[in-house]
Order: sequence, then structure tokens, then C-alpha cells
Amino acid sequence: MTLQTIKQPSTDEVLLGKSLEELTAWVQKQGQPAYRGKQLYQWLYQQGARSLSDISVFPKKWREEMADYPVGRSTIHYCSVAPDATRKYLLRLADGLIIEAVGIPTAKRLTVCVSSQVGCPMDCDFCATGKGGFTRNLKAHEIVDQVLTVQEDFGQRVSNVVFMGMGEPMANLEEVVAAVKSLNRDVGIGARSLTVSTVGIPGKIQQLAQHRLQIVLAVSLHASNQALREQLIPSAKKYTLDNLLNECRDYVQVTGRRVTFEYVLLAGVNDLPENARELVRCLKGFQTHVNLIPYNPISEVDYQRPNKNRIEKFTNILEEAKIAVSVRYSRGLEADAACGQLRASKA
Ligand code: SAH
Repeated sequence: MTLQTIKQPSTDEVLLGKSLEELTAWVQKQGQPAYRGKQLYQWLYQQGARSLSDISVFPKKWREEMADYPVGRSTIHYCSVAPDATRKYLLRLADGLIIEAVGIPTAKRLTVCVSSQVGCPMDCDFCATGKGGFTRNLKAHEIVDQVLTVQEDFGQRVSNVVFMGMGEPMANLEEVVAAVKSLNRDVGIGARSLTVSTVGIPGKIQQLAQHRLQIVLAVSLHASNQALREQLIPSAKKYTLDNLLNECRDYVQVTGRRVTFEYVLLAGVNDLPENARELVRCLKGFQTHVNLIPYNPISEVDYQRPNKNRIEKFTNILEEAKIAVSVRYSRGLEADAACGQLRASKA
């Protein structure tokens, strides 16, 4: 292998995201014995190796030769810590682009909110990420890296991962599925502790179902009728609420897993009691959980977060209809790290 190809491998050759079997095949291709595959696997996923030169169990000469081979790790460009201990990271990718990841600690857990794209093409009216446009999809290893980076920085095992950072996971389905598999198999996070959140892209939920992953699927509904949804989410014009809900029903049938619905609460827009009642009718027949997200302010639009009374009233209507409901009180607001506030800035 020439130096040129060592320095600029295709992203398929990046080591992170590969399984034990793939890494074993790779070391053998490099003329090393098979057992070095297991060492490489452990150093990548357990010890946080950022370069092959970090791997002290490897022969010195080979380590030196391979020192520049891309492992697939980002660097922390900036990190801000909110008073509630949530940490927002700006990570610099190999090509210099910046993405966000968020570490959210609770008493027993460490949840990482990962990005699936640089920017987002969906342009939902209330979300900061879409305002900055879309740059590119992330590769699977760039998603796995976010989890390892947060894990290392906290010095604590990550228990949960939510794909609720920048980007629309269903617009990058193949790499997201590969990342989910690696997080489960290689990083050791239970499939049921992995949540993929989507606003819905025609046919993609069905495609995801075919993978029969035991993950949690969260669907961003945000509206109780088609007209309102179109007003908030441009892509809803080409994908009706009915079609989205039908795809969710099929997903439940194929996977045997429930779907969770997310609903951002915008004062006076979609938080009225009649919206709650309409939502109940939409979700009839679903054994579901609704996650209400009181709007987190962004500078470009002047939506308001509803007051406590409104939120409670909305919650009560769902509960009376026997729908499980929780309110996602935002973590990381002060660090601009809450839902919908992610953009690649230090602001
Ligand atoms: N593209 C995925 C992931 C987006 S982020 C999706 O749409 O599901 C995760 C959640 O935060 C989504 O439900 C998203 O709609 C919501 N969100 C976006 N902007 C928000 C804001 N300003 N306040 C509260 N929630 C927001």
C-alpha cells in the first residue's frame, strides 16, 4: 500500500464502525496476524484509541508506519456546560465540518444526543438546525464517534443514545442503521436504549422496519391535523399525516415495537384543548407514548412556549384518553443544547 492510499482511504476503510470480523480481515490484509483484529477492536471501542500509534500492544514499526491511518475520530472543537451539567460539544470532522453532540447526565444514566447529518434539509419552521441549511450526510463512524467522544469526556459509560441532534435520520437511513448496529454490537448499548427520531420521509419507516431492530422509533408529529402540520413542516405537503400514521401502523406490525410520538408545544398554535382532542383521535388504535416538548426558543421565529396550565391541560386530555404521556422538560437550554436549538455555533 502506498503512502498516498494510507493517508486518503475511502470512508469505507475508516476503522471505526467496523465489526470484530471486519477488523480482523483488515489487519490480515495489512499482513498482520488475525489476533491483532481483536486487539484493534478493543482499543478502538474500549480504550478510545485515536490513532494506530496509540495501540501499545502493536509492534512498534507497524504502529509508526500506520500512525496516520484514519481511525475515524473527530476532535472536540468546543464544549459548553449548562448549569444542569448537560454538555454541548462542537466536534470537528475529518473534512473540517462541525457537528453537534450533547451529553445529558442523570443520576443513573448518561444519554447522548447524536447528529445524523451536517445541517438538515427538512426546514421545520421552529427548528434552528434547518435554518442553517443542509451540508451532507454523516457516515456511520461519524455517528459512533460522537458517542465515544461523550463517553470519554464524561468518563462514564453511555447508557442511551437518541438520534435527536442535527439532521433527519431517515434521510440518511443506511448510515444510521449501520451506526445503530455498531453502537449495539461494538459499543455495547442495548438496542432498546437507542432511539431514532424522524419527522417522516415517505417509505423510509417501512424500510427501517425491514431491519427489524429492537430500537425505539420516535415520530415527530407536532400537529393534530394535516393543515397545521403543513404549516409547521414543509415536507408534510408531500407526505400526509394519514400516510405517515399508516406507515407507523405497519412498522408496529412488522417489528412488534411501539412507536413514540413527539409533539412540540407552540403556544396558541398547536397547544389548544381541541388540538389535544384531535390528537387523541389521530392516535386511536395505537398503543403509544406521547412525548410533549414545550418549545425551546430560537432567534429566527417568534413562537412562544406555552405556560404550565396549558401544558397540564393538554397532558390531562391525553391521559384521560389512556394515552401515556410525558413532558420533556428541556435539558441544556442555557448552553443552547436543547431540542431544536442545535446549530454549529458557539452562541
Ligand atoms: N429530524 C428528527 C430529529 C430532530 S430533533 C425529527 O424531526 O424527529 C428532535 C426533536 O426536537 C424533534 O421532535 C424536533 O421536531 C424537536 N424540535 C425541533 N425544534 C425544536 C424547538 N425549537 N423546541 C422544541 N423541540 C424542537
